[in-house]
Amino acid sequence: MTTVLTPASPLTAGDRCDRCGAQAYLRVVLLSGGELLFCAHHGRKFEPELKKIAAEIQDETARLTSASASASDER
Ligand SMILES: [Zn+2]
Repeated sequence: MTTVLTPASPLTAGDRCDRCGAQAYLRVVLLSGGELLFCAHHGRKFEPELKKIAAEIQDETARLTSASASASDER
């Protein structure tokens, strides 16, 4: 499994979590060839399972952290 740090196709606001419909920050390419999208919340929740079935995990949750940091509203 490889974690991609410089993805060829970044996730956009149009990419939605398969579970809850929130904006997706993780793209999981499955060994079977499929693809799943998860928000940061569900990405973390399913990470142990995903690592078993993923060929590649594109993790853009760092963008989420920097976005909330720049909003300077962290509690
Ligand atoms: Zn979700």
